Formats: sequence, C-alpha cells, structure tokens
Amino acid sequence: MNREPLFPASSYARAIVFPCALLLLLVATGEHAFAQRAVQNSDNDYSKKIREYTTEPYFRTELVDHLPMSDKVPSPDKVLGYVVGTPNKLTYTKDLYRYYRELAKNSPRVRIFSAPERSEEGREQLLIAVGDEAALAKLDRYKEITSKLADPRHTNDDEAQKLIGEGKALYWLSGSIHSPETGSPEMLMELAYRLAVEESPFIQAIRKNVIVLITPVLEVDGRDRMVDIYNYRKANPNKNAPSLIYWGKYVAHDNNRDGLGMALALTRNMMATFLEYHPAILHDLHESVPFLYTSTGTGPYNAWLDPITIDEWQLLAYHEIEELTKRGVPGVWTHGFYDGWAPNYMFYVANGHNSIGRFYETFGNGGADTMDRTVTQQAQRDWFRPNPPHSRVKWSLRNNVNMQQSGVLLAMNFVANNKDRFLQNFYIKSKRSIAKATNEGPAAWVVPGDQSRLVEAADMVNLLRQMGVEVHKATKEISVKDQKFPAGSYVIRMDQPYSRMADMLLDTQYYNVNDPRPYDDTGWTLGALRNVKTARVTDKAVLNSSMSLLTADARVTGKLTGPTAAAGYVINHNAENTLATLRYRLKDVRIGAAEEAFKIGETQFNAGSFVIKADGNPADVRQRLETAVR
Ligand SMILES: [Zn+2]
Repeated sequence: MNREPLFPASSYARAIVFPCALLLLLVATGEHAFAQRAVQNSDNDYSKKIREYTTEPYFRTELVDHLPMSDKVPSPDKVLGYVVGTPNKLTYTKDLYRYYRELAKNSPRVRIFSAPERSEEGREQLLIAVGDEAALAKLDRYKEITSKLADPRHTNDDEAQKLIGEGKALYWLSGSIHSPETGSPEMLMELAYRLAVEESPFIQAIRKNVIVLITPVLEVDGRDRMVDIYNYRKANPNKNAPSLIYWGKYVAHDNNRDGLGMALALTRNMMATFLEYHPAILHDLHESVPFLYTSTGTGPYNAWLDPITIDEWQLLAYHEIEELTKRGVPGVWTHGFYDGWAPNYMFYVANGHNSIGRFYETFGNGGADTMDRTVTQQAQRDWFRPNPPHSRVKWSLRNNVNMQQSGVLLAMNFVANNKDRFLQNFYIKSKRSIAKATNEGPAAWVVPGDQSRLVEAADMVNLLRQMGVEVHKATKEISVKDQKFPAGSYVIRMDQPYSRMADMLLDTQYYNVNDPRPYDDTGWTLGALRNVKTARVTDKAVLNSSMSLLTADARVTGKLTGPTAAAGYVINHNAENTLATLRYRLKDVRIGAAEEAFKIGETQFNAGSFVIKADGNPADVRQRLETAVR
C-alpha cells in the first residue's frame, strides 16, 4: 500500500523549529505553562480572594490560584458564605458535611458514604468519593477489581492484567486526625469541588484514572471542640481561654498511634473502609513543620514491609518535590522527620496491607490567623532540603491550603498517569505476601490452645481479624518438626494477603542498636504484650494440617463442673483480665482469694484463685455463677 511517510521532510523541518517557538511560549506564559488551563471561566471573585489571602505569589501554583466556575455545582463560598482559607474562619463538621451534601446533590461526580461507626461522642464520620461520573456509577465494580487484586489466591496473572487495565487507582485523603492542625478540612472541600468541576486536562486526567476518596475529618469530636475554642478566643481576646486537653473524648495527639490497638472508632473506621475499597494510596494530612514535608522517613524502615512500598514512598515524594520546586515554591522537602520503622500509626491500615501509606506535614498556624513566623531548624539547608523554608515568613491559612492542595493534586495526577503501574505493584505485593509462607517464611504462627490466658488469646486473634488477617482453628492435633499443638489452637497462615502485618505483630520487634534513636519506640510483639504464648512455625507441613477458617470472632466461655450440692466453688487464677469483669458481675456474692497455691485432688489452683463458699452466700449462688461465666 502506498502510504505517505509519517514525517515528510517538510514537516520534520517544522518539528525542529517548533520546540523553540514552544519554549518562547513557555517563558511568555510563566507559571501557567505547567498545567494547561481549562477552556472554562474562573470564578473571578473567588480567585481574587485566593490571591489576597496568599501572602506571597510563590506560595500558590497555577493549580490552585483560581477556582473554576460552575453554574450547577456550588463552590464552598456559596454554601458557607466564605472562601476556603479566609483568615479567621474555621468550619465545623456539620458545615463541612452540609457542603459535601450540596456538592453530591448537584454533581454526579461526587458520592457520599457514612463510616461504619460513630465517634466516641456520637458524631458521624463521612467518606466522600469524587471521580468521573461513569466511574462513580460503577463504583462497586471498581471495588470488586481492587479486592480481587488484593487476593491473588483467587486471581491468576492473566485475569489480573485484565483487571489492572480495567481498574482505577483509588487515592484516599484523610483530614485532621490532629485537631490543632486545622487546615486540611478546609482544603479538602475546595479540592473536592475542583476535582468535580474543573475541565483542565490536568484534572480530567485525574478523573479518568483515579477515584479520589476523602475523609473530611478523622477526629470529628476534636475538630468541633477546636473550632469552639478558636472562636471563643477570637470573641474574648482579653479572657483566659482553655486549651484542648484531649483531641477526641479519650486521646490527644496519640490518636494516630492507634494502628496496633484499634481502640478508637476513627481507627476502626479507617480499617473497615480500607478493607472495603483497597485504595492504592492513603494520604494522611498533618501540619507541623514548614512549608511542606512529604513523608519518606530517615530509616531504619520497617523490615516486614515489601521493599516496593519503600520505593513508592520515595517515588511519590520526589515527584511532588520536583514539581513544586520547578514552580518556584520554596521549602518542599522529605527524609528528615520521622523514621518509617514503627507500625503503630493509623496509616498502617494501608502500609500493613500492601498499599501505600503516606503523610504531609505542612505549616499550620494552629487556627486561622495570619501571622509572622520564625523558622529555625527547618530553615537549614541540607542534602534532603536543598531549597529550605525561609527563616522568616508571614504565613496564612490560605498558604497552607495552597501547599496541601497543590501537592496532592500533583500526586494524584502522577498516580493517574501511572495508574497501571500502581495497580500492578499492589498486585505484586499481594502475591508476594501469599508467597511469604514458602519464600522468606515463617510458614505460620500458632497460638496454642493449651495456655492459661485463653480469653486474652481469643482477644488477640480477634484484633488480627479486625485488621483483615485470616485466622484458622486446628481441628486436630498439629504435629510438625519439633512442635506439637492441640486441637483448638489458632493458626495464622503466612500464605494469605495480610501475612506481613500478622508476622510483624507476632514476631519479636527488632531495632538495630547501631541505628539512630527511633522517632517512636512502641512495643508491638502482641504475644508478649498480652502474656499469650505464640509459636513461630517454619515447617511448611503446618499448612497441610487440618484446620477451619474462623468466620466470626473467637469466643471463650467458662463452665462449672462438679456436684450440684457443693460446699463451695473455686475459680482458678489464670491472670485473665476477665476475672475482674467476673468479680463485678457477681457483686452480691462473697468471694475470698487464696493467699497461696493449693491442690484439690490432682487439680492445681494458683494463689489468687477465687474461693466461693456456699455457706454465707445466696442460695442460688451456683446459678449465678453459671450465668456469669457464660
Ligand atoms: Zn499531626
């Protein structure tokens, strides 16, 4: 067939000339050359306010120096009465939610869900999904795809490649787990609007390949208290104002260190949401150091993670640093903040589950005031901070909003342009977690059934189950090389998707004494923490033992044995925490405690055992005991 050459000589000549013209164009249009503008009007009043509230032009980028106009979808100021980042304005959760509900009502690109649990003070935690309208309409299909990639036991490589091609990367942002860090809930509203209405190629690319999930506020109780106190201080400048004692009802700053214990509703919500959506990335927004620290960490890194995860932290961080630095934004850096070792953080709902957990620290003023700030240590130039923050700066809430929003937009655009790569990595990490049993080992962990603290052992495996770890129960005695365990023992197999998290928490934590001091030193060897026996099993034969999967939480009940007409009852002291609960259940029963160990027949009872004499107790004491131990 006679075809014209793809590059005839004349057009080739033009191609050489063209880049120079393009270069001139880039210079002439300045910062706007980075992301192509939408053929769409901007909201001039809103955009003017953005410029007014930003203290220096280099604290905004072409991504956030304007707000696109929409005649259908309300921008935040239409609902709240003020522009995001207005000095002295912080938004309560009820108003954040009012805005998101208006957004979802008017845009098919926004959907709203409620997290499974309410907060300790009864507040709702929302989850917002933003994406292409066709993608949001098929959200269940995209959830199905990520869940299949998360468990390669049921997905072969050919199928996985098709799923990766069809799938979307889910990028999940979470705001203000730390209540004095006030900027992210404001920023996320504007981001959601921008993602829903802007028609620039940059934002369209995000909508095409990424579904953005937003948790507007993680610590909902603390957020509202923080806004209360901020407003009180503003209204009463001459009065002493209280400070926040805790952020939430029970916990202050360590609410982001609940990843191991899952004691807080916010952590359990995040874990449950992760297991429902399997987002490729969870990005938690914090505010402390100037101007934008993007997490990688100094190391030592957690040795149980797949090394790909560590690479992905660097990949995303350096993309943001390069792009923001190119735009002339000062003070964007990485490395020197935390280490990356301890798995206690909330964002281990991602890192511990084959996804990417990351965070920002941006510069916050602890409220919404514009103020002069002095930067000391972080103004130092270093290899990881060649373009350091300025030592003196006038800083505003809007600056903070601009930094966070520009950074996350760049990250989401990068993930959109590399969607298959991130989904592929997720699949590979999931596969390698299943291969752990036969690759690096161990083959399994066993929690033996013959141990004294059976309730605590059940509680421990239930915690693992809450983290998405599968737990089996031996239906027959397990006999492997040098080890025997009775039927009823719990088995945590290492050929499952979340083997790494389970192995990390059951193995002995390790810190090399030659490494610098860790950022957090958190005990995480669950067996030792709970005084529960655990056994590391390397013999792969354990995987062929007969066992059944727990489909509900493990539960231990007590029982009363011996003759009906008893002189008394003895409850052995086995150091279970539930002995205290039992005592309170039997508050009207007289109970003695043995001062020394003793034997009845062949049965040994420990010091501290409860002795309940029939004499001196209600006639129905046996019945009460039977009810209480159930
Ligand atoms: Zn924080």
